[in-house]
Amino acid sequence: MSKEEAKCIFCEELIPSDSEECPHCDKKPFSGMYFDPETYKVVEHLEKDGELEKAWKLLYDEWIQHGDYDYYDDEMYFELLEKMHELYERNPSLIRQRVDLIKDYWRGAAYYAHFVGQRDIEEGLEIAKKVGRNDLEEELIDFLDQLHSR
Ligand SMILES: [Zn+2]
Repeated sequence: MSKEEAKCIFCEELIPSDSEECPHCDKKPFSGMYFDPETYKVVEHLEKDGELEKAWKLLYDEWIQHGDYDYYDDEMYFELLEKMHELYERNPSLIRQRVDLIKDYWRGAAYYAHFVGQRDIEEGLEIAKKVGRNDLEEELIDFLDQLHSR
C-alpha cells in the first residue's frame, strides 16, 4: 500500500499528504492552511470601494502572521508580498505603506541572514526612485544604515 507523503513545512517530518494536523508538531502542516482564501475576495471588494488602506492592512496582517518565526510559511509569505506589490502598482497612493513594507522586508532579511541582499536593496530603492520621492529614498537609506550598524 502506498500512501503519498509530504513534508510538514514547520517540523519537516514526512507525514501523509492529506493530514489536517501534523502528528509531530500539532500544527496545520502545509502551506496556506492558516490562510482563508476568502481574504482575497474581501481585499478585492475593499479595493473596488476605494478602501485602499484597509485592503492593504488585511494583506499586511496576513503577511506578518505567515512570516512569524514559529509559523513561517514560505509560499504564502511570498504570495502575499506579491499581492501587496500588485495592489500598490494599481494604486500608487499607497506609497507610504509600500515604503514601510520595504523596511519590514529588509528588517526580516537582516534578522534571518544578518544583512540585506544587494538585489533587495536595489529593488526597494527603485520603488521610491520611480515615483521621484528623494525623501523616501533617503529614509530607506538611513534605515538600511541603522540595520547594518547593529
Ligand atoms: Zn510538523
